Amino acid sequence: MSVSRLENDQSDYSEAIEWRHDFHAHPELAYQEHRTSDLVAKRLTSFGLDIETGIGGTGVVATLRGRLGDGPTVGLRTELDALPILENSGVSYISTNKGCMHACGHDGHAAIMLETARRLAAAPDFAGTVHFIFQPAEENGGGAKAMLDDGFMDRFPCDSFWALHNWPGLPVGTIAARAGEMTAACDNFDIVVDGFGGHAGLPHLSIDPIAAASQFITNLYGQLARRVNAVEGGLCSVTRFDSGSAYNVVPNQARLAGTVRALYEPARALIEDTLKSQAKATEIATGTKFNVDYEVCYPISYNDADATDIALECARTLVGDDHVVAGIAPTMGTEDFAYFLQERPGCLVLFGQGEGEAPAKLHTPEYDFNDRLIPVAVQYWLTLVDRLLGSKNDQ
Ligand SMILES: [Zn+2]
Ligand SMILES: [Zn+2]
Repeated sequence: MSVSRLENDQSDYSEAIEWRHDFHAHPELAYQEHRTSDLVAKRLTSFGLDIETGIGGTGVVATLRGRLGDGPTVGLRTELDALPILENSGVSYISTNKGCMHACGHDGHAAIMLETARRLAAAPDFAGTVHFIFQPAEENGGGAKAMLDDGFMDRFPCDSFWALHNWPGLPVGTIAARAGEMTAACDNFDIVVDGFGGHAGLPHLSIDPIAAASQFITNLYGQLARRVNAVEGGLCSVTRFDSGSAYNVVPNQARLAGTVRALYEPARALIEDTLKSQAKATEIATGTKFNVDYEVCYPISYNDADATDIALECARTLVGDDHVVAGIAPTMGTEDFAYFLQERPGCLVLFGQGEGEAPAKLHTPEYDFNDRLIPVAVQYWLTLVDRLLGSKNDQ
């Protein structure tokens, strides 16, 4: 099937596009996706699928057994949640929930999964089982882990897990993946720097937490550049710095926060160690007290090599060799699909969201999911299920 045919195939997907616009107009934050979850459950039921709701909070799982008998069980995962961003996309179906928007395209991913479920339910010509996984709270909430902690693997024992994400900057019709590290690990930290306030004209009589925190950031960045192997990839960004309330007062306290990203566990551990040791060094040098709260968050997403071969083989069948990027560079973004990939092998693939016509990046107020990739993504899921569970299955 050619890319242009897929792109011109909009009429068959008009209802999926309507669902997407409806999700977009009614975004909900992590673990609050009640309307979205209810709608998903209602539609899946109308397709004749068995569903279970309330998994890991607002998660929904639909189960479809093939009519050709027993076979492997595959889990296809999508997300339900939106982000706390004030939308400025200008689309007619703009968010009606002010300050909340689908800025990561989970509205599109969910609509694609629903359309896939509908088509497969109408003709389940495969041997095995498909679990359609609609997870809550991908953005920072760890919804995948919440579902797993809710007994997911006992209730829906999958042999493999699969997911896709739209990717601004790649043309529509392009499908990309890499074996190994696909998305980075993410840790977050909060630091309270306690000093001793005083008159700004007499700083020698105080212990200045702003000066200490500034020194900490500068030294931390310098240390990381020398300690972390540049090839192995890892970074730390201080993203919040709050302190003070007057022109002429040295405050008592400064607060910092930020994130750590890494593609390899040794780099991740080294960054945590550098951050904590630099906090101690700054304490000694300045007389302040650094209280570091370091939270280990999402794991690294590892795409299984064999699963990635299968995913890219399906992509080639669909869009041709010229539109497949094998071995795309990993991203320092994170993806809690990593938790599913810790349980069983699988693959996260990236779908081109467009270059010129949809330039807005993920997590920006101008972003809008590109409906033009709905057909190619639905066809990818159908091709993958056929490859894994179809009559030609040789797994
Ligand atoms: Zn996101
Ligand atoms: Zn996302």
